[in-house]
Amino acid sequence: MKFNTKTIHGGQEHDIAYGSVMPPIYQTSTYAQSTPGGHKGYEYSRSQNPTRHALEKAFASIENGNYGLAFGSGLASIDAIIKLLKPGDEVISTNDLYGGSYRLFTKIYSEFGIKFHFIGMQNATNIEDFVNSKTKLIWVETPTNPMMNIIDIKATVKIAKKHDILLAVDNTFATPYLQRPLDLGADIIMHSATKYLGGHSDVVMGALVVNDKELADKLYFIQNASGAVCGPQDSFLVLRGIKTLHIRMQRHCENGKTVAEYLNSHPKIEKVYWPGFESHPNHEIAKSQMKDFGGMVSFVTKGNNYQDAIRIVENLKVFTLAESLGGVESLAGHPASMTHASIPKEEREKTGVVDSLIRLSVGIEDIDDLIADLRQAIG
Ligand SMILES: *Cc1c(COP(=O)(O)O)cnc(C)c1O
Repeated sequence: MKFNTKTIHGGQEHDIAYGSVMPPIYQTSTYAQSTPGGHKGYEYSRSQNPTRHALEKAFASIENGNYGLAFGSGLASIDAIIKLLKPGDEVISTNDLYGGSYRLFTKIYSEFGIKFHFIGMQNATNIEDFVNSKTKLIWVETPTNPMMNIIDIKATVKIAKKHDILLAVDNTFATPYLQRPLDLGADIIMHSATKYLGGHSDVVMGALVVNDKELADKLYFIQNASGAVCGPQDSFLVLRGIKTLHIRMQRHCENGKTVAEYLNSHPKIEKVYWPGFESHPNHEIAKSQMKDFGGMVSFVTKGNNYQDAIRIVENLKVFTLAESLGGVESLAGHPASMTHASIPKEEREKTGVVDSLIRLSVGIEDIDDLIADLRQAIG
């Protein structure tokens, strides 16, 4: 089955009771047993739920993986991965990553004796300098948030395999429409399904997909034992979202390209971060590992003035000023005062998050309205 068919049918069977085409929302915590242990594969909804199960099979299908797991949020799914580790273990993570992942690693798991190295991975050979006998996990996010850096997944896989280290890829920004890290040799794919997979800004959810049975069993054990599962209603919504992932992504990419090119030619804009530009430092890697360049675009204004950026995001009318990304509607964010406000100015500026940086999640509205909105807001 090809990707555009998998989004609609992947892992799905018609309901056995009445043949309903969409899986019923099994809004139940428990299941009747005829005799102790006599059940139909479902005992308790933290452990298994048919609606969540349908979604988990869809996650696995679209990522070309064998096993999918759904969690109550993207962070809950990352939390499950880190629980594979033990005190004394070390993790090598990209240094330009989602702020919530950074917070989980440094504020929670550092306290449990796990050591994190945050490094620039735009050149994958850097990773090897930090590998030692305690290294158990490499954490990759690509494209990164909000600087749109690209990390070479294949080159990272080589290093991970050579040293027998697990490689996890946060595939939230790219989605399996653009890149499929398991096909490139990664061990775990993680998603904030809150973003493009759900696609309608109406649900918070996380996903993991793996190929290896033993790894899947361990993660399932953690999912059930720690209990950060999602409910059947949310499972239904994300399953519905995935059915249009391919056509939404196609439009996100088209609109993203037009917005990036418009901003790049604007006299008041200093720099635009988008992996589709030939001038992007890892453009060639993006071209080889991604089908297209996505709908996320960041930019800074000439003069790098904090107030200019605030004025622009406040003036936008079609774009909504809000956290999050990946929904059908266009959103704009100002990392320095929003997502990255808790990071000291000096620290955030090291990775490029300067005062005038604006991040756009370009939606699937009519492109003329999006360009007109940016034109009037930038002035
Ligand atoms: C939003 C996000 C997360 C966290 O997911 P939640 O669903 O908000 O818990 C992790 N990684 C990336 C890249 C994200 O954008």
